[in-house]
Amino acid sequence: MRSSPRFFAATLLLAAASLAPARTLLHCGTLIDSRGDAPKKEMTVIVDGPRIVAVEAGYAAPAAGDKVIDLKAATVTPGWIDCHVHLDSQSSPTSLLESFQLNPTDRALLAAHYAKKTLLAGFTAVRNLGDGGNSTIALRKAINAGYATGPRIYTAGKSIATTGGHADPTNGRSAALMGDPGPIEGVINGPDEGRKAVRQRYKDGVDVIKITATGGVLSQATSGMAPQFTPEELKAIIDTAHDYGLKVAAHAHGTEGMKRAVEAGIDSIDHGTFMTDEIVALMKKHGTCYVPTISAGRFVAEKAKLDGYFTPVVRPKALLIGPQIQATFQRAYQAGVKIAFGTDQGVAPHGDNAMEFVYMVEAGMPPLVAIKSATLEAAKLIGIDKDVGTIEPGKFADIVAVPGDLLADIKRVMQVSFVMKDGVVYK
Ligand SMILES: [Zn+2]
Repeated sequence: MRSSPRFFAATLLLAAASLAPARTLLHCGTLIDSRGDAPKKEMTVIVDGPRIVAVEAGYAAPAAGDKVIDLKAATVTPGWIDCHVHLDSQSSPTSLLESFQLNPTDRALLAAHYAKKTLLAGFTAVRNLGDGGNSTIALRKAINAGYATGPRIYTAGKSIATTGGHADPTNGRSAALMGDPGPIEGVINGPDEGRKAVRQRYKDGVDVIKITATGGVLSQATSGMAPQFTPEELKAIIDTAHDYGLKVAAHAHGTEGMKRAVEAGIDSIDHGTFMTDEIVALMKKHGTCYVPTISAGRFVAEKAKLDGYFTPVVRPKALLIGPQIQATFQRAYQAGVKIAFGTDQGVAPHGDNAMEFVYMVEAGMPPLVAIKSATLEAAKLIGIDKDVGTIEPGKFADIVAVPGDLLADIKRVMQVSFVMKDGVVYK
């Protein structure tokens, strides 16, 4: 029975069918490819395996074996990229308590949960700027190997701070628990320790280096603004990172720390709250990218109104810094600073990342420019624009869609109806 000629012929046919290129044709009503300046109507994007192989005008007819996905009533864009997330945590009134309870293994599983949410919200790549115990390095490996579901992850591992600085993990602890964390834990004092911290992260397998150039809102320390690295420390960290081909991102709210970081050659200023005209000019001169994170500013400003949400040391910082960021974004955009989309998600809830588009448009950025900042500009900042960030032949098929006309109503970014990453449909 099994060796009958008929069965053999059928098997051959099946084998031939599985060898034939099984392409996916996306019929796109409106296509924003992040290459040109205008959206295109009635287009077909052809995907073969993980990559885009063609983009054609009109609704191309499928060949035998091709699969067609009807997005004629949708706006289709490249997959979105968030340049500032923290996948292994989410702020809440119990965040401080959790910092005593969670192990890196717990953090990795939390990160896996939030990574899936992030992908389904339309974000096919993220830059993770600070985690606990290298949880997101492990998650990146799991996603790339196919046993976890999430966006492409480019991670800094644990952020680098100075003693008592924004990313010193023992801030606010009792003396018995405070210890003396060093470069391996991401706390440095002096240029040599800065170099060691970078090299340790390179050894750990990071994709980018993150420093906390000034104080921050959510750490248990009084100043959200003070510069926290000397120019010599910044130079040592940035030059060493660049030696390894790693870019450096700086968390910065206060003016002096921001200025020092830009002058030392930092690749991105994140938050940038008290950015002066002098810093705007310096950033344009050095080609420094700005990652605004309006979402985090709005979220902490809102929660600071509630009693007990933040600790007494955090609350006044949230009230001071939170409400400023959207106005800073507006000034930086108008002045022509290079802007890459980023939310600081993990402050606000994971999965709500796309609200940042709404805030950017609210502050005067046209929707098409906002989409470009979350696709091509973000890909350039991370250094992955050869592979993602636009819809064109040769790039990975990272593609999202929202119902209706995204450019007429930016809030549609919160209704993502289709997500493809690496040519695989996740939604
Ligand atoms: Zn952050």
